[in-house]
Amino acid sequence: MFLTISATGTPERPATDLGYLLHKHPDNAQTFSTSYGTAHVLYPEASAERCTAALLLEVDAVALVRRGKGKGRGGAPDAALAQYVNDRPYAASSLLAVALSAVFSSAMKGQCNARPELPARPLPLRVEVPALPARGGADLVRALFEPLGWTVTVEAVALDAEFPGWGDSRYVRLVLESERLTLSEALRHLYVLLPVLDDAKHYWVSSDEVDKLLRAGDGWLPDHPEQKLITSRYLSRRWSLTREAMERLELVRLAEADDSAVEEIDNAVAEETEADSEDAAEPEEKSVSLAVQRRDAILAALHASGAARVLDLGCGQGQLVQALLKDTRFTEIVGVDVSMRALTVASRRLKLDRMGERQAERVKLMQGSLAYTDNRLKGYDAAVLSEVIEHLDLPRLPALEYAVFGSARPKTVLVTTPNVEYNVRWETLPAGHSRHGDHRFEWTREEFRAWAERVAGRHGYGVEFTPVGPDDPEVGPPTQMATFTMSAKEEKAA
Ligand code: SAH
Repeated sequence: MFLTISATGTPERPATDLGYLLHKHPDNAQTFSTSYGTAHVLYPEASAERCTAALLLEVDAVALVRRGKGKGRGGAPDAALAQYVNDRPYAASSLLAVALSAVFSSAMKGQCNARPELPARPLPLRVEVPALPARGGADLVRALFEPLGWTVTVEAVALDAEFPGWGDSRYVRLVLESERLTLSEALRHLYVLLPVLDDAKHYWVSSDEVDKLLRAGDGWLPDHPEQKLITSRYLSRRWSLTREAMERLELVRLAEADDSAVEEIDNAVAEETEADSEDAAEPEEKSVSLAVQRRDAILAALHASGAARVLDLGCGQGQLVQALLKDTRFTEIVGVDVSMRALTVASRRLKLDRMGERQAERVKLMQGSLAYTDNRLKGYDAAVLSEVIEHLDLPRLPALEYAVFGSARPKTVLVTTPNVEYNVRWETLPAGHSRHGDHRFEWTREEFRAWAERVAGRHGYGVEFTPVGPDDPEVGPPTQMATFTMSAKEEKAA
């Protein structure tokens, strides 16, 4: 099975840039072994005007069966034979998608060290897949690729060219053309949509498949009109995984829709004030913004807890992660957020790609939803949820409670959230409005205390409360913080 990717170019922007982007030199034919067979990359043509890379996968049908990943063992004799004689070696399917991501992983991620400016640049691209099993036919092929900016040509492939009377096969020849997509986008479209069109049971569906889908779908899947079909087929119609993916996509959409309005009242000013107070001569003249006060309160509570390995859950654009990195007490810092866009900003802020090895080992950013248990989050000293809980719908809050206090179970958990009583003190806030468009609720001190005490009691933690910002005698502080500490008995048991 194979596919080709072609770019056209000009003397200033030669098509052979494709070779840089794919990290494969046009003059060489290269071979890679993948789990399902051998992949070859070669360039049938490579000039400034036009450059074509071909990915060829020789599927080892026997290895597939031996790995126990073939179709059902035993059963009817023809089923046994079908393990060895099937379309897998010829049709573009999930196996080709896996090879694509293995062989072109940097290109898929949009990384190019040799020419860092290239990946973000759209290219005139043409992709050809000569034999694509397309369940749903030409209409579905169009419905999947056209909304992404591709011009789509689909031709049915005859069952046998010599016997037109036999009609068409279930395969199509697909040609995609676009001038406005980047190579990374193109590859991520193929990585997801080839297996979706094949719609065969995949050999590789596991729970981290949801992560892979969200990563590959970054920037296009959250808004795709066929999102549901794509998600469900990609995950081999596993209902629980599909539901998880759909919910996470919805969160990504929501989080990104109001990204521009990041915590406008109390956080947006933070950037400037913070920069000023660090660099300017007379910081004491400026009132320190609430976001900075919150970060200081969190740092103080983390110091008091003695934590070294810290999770920043709902890390947003990475301000706290950055502050933690500056403090050598923290040996491992993990930022988690559902919004890919926030994580991209965070990664840029932290200059993750230019960081020395020692620093880079201390920090990690992960995409994930706090409404699901996640084994990657187990075993940390502390977790911070700074201005995060109020972004969840109240009915989803118990899921977060369980994921953090029941499953991840760090020794210390810090939770901050607005104190709604204080809202009357914000001059710019119209009465009855919450501080941010995406806040699903804002609590009084009493409501927060009741919630925190219930969660602490249920999961074996003690809890204490700290005001953050000016503690108004009548309405309390603008931000309230709860410090949860795992009880000694629980800690021993863990
Ligand atoms: N902690 C940061 C950002 C707070 S804004 C700060 O204190 O400034 C809330 C963040 O929570 C957003 O980045 C949003 O994407 C994230 N978020 C909301 N719901 C989430 C969920 N279910 N799982 C993970 N992150 C979530």
